[in-house]
Amino acid sequence: MSTPTLPPTVAAHVPTELLIDGVWRPAASGRRFEVADPATTQVLFEVADAGPEDALAALTAADSAREEWRAVSPRARAELLRAVFEEMRAHAEDLAALVTAEGGKPLAESRAEVAYAADYVRWYSEQAVRLDGLARRAPAGGAHQLVLRRPVGPALLITPWNFPIAMIARKMAPALAAGCPVIVKPAQLAPLTTAYVAEMVRAELEARGLPAGVLGILPSSSAGALTTPLLADPRLRKLSFTGSTEVGRILLRSAAQSVLRTSMELGGNAPFLVFDDADIPAAVEGALAAKMRNSGQTCVAANRFLVHESVAAEFTDGLTAAFDRLVMGHGATPGTTAGPLIEAAAVERVAAAVAAAVDGGARVRSGGHRPRGAGYFYAPTVLENVSPDDLVVTEEVFGPVAPVMTFATEGEAVALANGTEFGLVAYAYTRDVGRVMRLVESVETGMLGINRGMVSDASAPFGGVKSSGLGREGGEAGIEEYLETVYVAL
Ligand code: ADP
Repeated sequence: MSTPTLPPTVAAHVPTELLIDGVWRPAASGRRFEVADPATTQVLFEVADAGPEDALAALTAADSAREEWRAVSPRARAELLRAVFEEMRAHAEDLAALVTAEGGKPLAESRAEVAYAADYVRWYSEQAVRLDGLARRAPAGGAHQLVLRRPVGPALLITPWNFPIAMIARKMAPALAAGCPVIVKPAQLAPLTTAYVAEMVRAELEARGLPAGVLGILPSSSAGALTTPLLADPRLRKLSFTGSTEVGRILLRSAAQSVLRTSMELGGNAPFLVFDDADIPAAVEGALAAKMRNSGQTCVAANRFLVHESVAAEFTDGLTAAFDRLVMGHGATPGTTAGPLIEAAAVERVAAAVAAAVDGGARVRSGGHRPRGAGYFYAPTVLENVSPDDLVVTEEVFGPVAPVMTFATEGEAVALANGTEFGLVAYAYTRDVGRVMRLVESVETGMLGINRGMVSDASAPFGGVKSSGLGREGGEAGIEEYLETVYVAL
């Protein structure tokens, strides 16, 4: 089988330098790092490797652009974002090819990610002109109160590799709409799509005579070396991070020093509840969507399948058949429905978690092995007879493994669902409206999908409770993260 490579027309237009003050330039150190295709392990590009000096140059540019960008009219900011949205739509196929090349996901999923990312840019182009305040008489009379919103200022956006375009879109678009200059640190493993979109924004800023320092792009092989000087600098006013809870905690500690505004989209451990009154074929279909997008490498991936004991056999049989039908391969190969994991360490981690579950008595119904050949693949896996303290359910597995456990009562199901430090998303299949309302009250989660395996939408607030994070992205709430409130008494 021939290995699909990036189309040459796309490859020719991927910026591989740093974007600082409107200019793509090499790192001050001259260093570069490699970005590889996880399905083949072949190196795609060598990318400039930003260090502390570059970080401070980007912050100086952002800070210099701050006043001018704040003064730009909301309408002009909206029109900039609308133009970027149109560009993303016009080049959707190029962007999807890049997402697949650097992240591995099947092309159909990459296309969906690009459309989803563009939706955030459109939504915030529409929100840019709707930043309301408040005016009223003080309750005691004698004064009026004005409540105004203003941009918080230069923002550092740190994104993960699993959605290389959606994550940057849903941070950058509201930040720019609010009037904040941004510095982006894309993930080391997948920085290419970000650079491609950044060039669209840079070109639009230039064409409209808007300040170039509004957008900085700093790929780096040393995240800490880059972010430490930025977080210590009082000119930085905002941090938005998506990634692991572990790194989120490190960043929150650093952010404490300058009492930085933070938004944190951290880990999840999503329960997927199937009740005895559920439509089981629909639940299987939803389970596939909730588990297998990006081969399970999403923070909203269903991590634990909790199924009523009376329907467990039917559900597990259905899920096993659906997993058996998945086709592993390069994401750009037609017919592929399960791509690789992002790196060798991810395969090791997933294999170890499955082995530990099997040692503890779990049965493999599908998968449970690594295929031969190049690339970081692990077979889509269904496990049954899993116990609540197995690693595959206590940890976010971030891979194509579906562990099935059973419950007898609704109370037991809710207790299992809540038995985690995380609370990002939960899924439930049931036809009982009363039960749905009880779940809304009792499941500790930021998002709840009822009879569906996908919840994300640019117009809705995405985010978690407990150790899953702080703040929301998307919807009306997403732009609040980049605004501060000024109260005037007069
Ligand atoms: P994951 O790999 O699960 O997405 P990580 O939390 O490791 O999650 O990475 C998310 C982002 O955070 C990436 O851009 C990564 O480079 C960055 N990152 C990792 N460690 C640090 C750190 N110590 N300081 C700042 N950023 C970090």
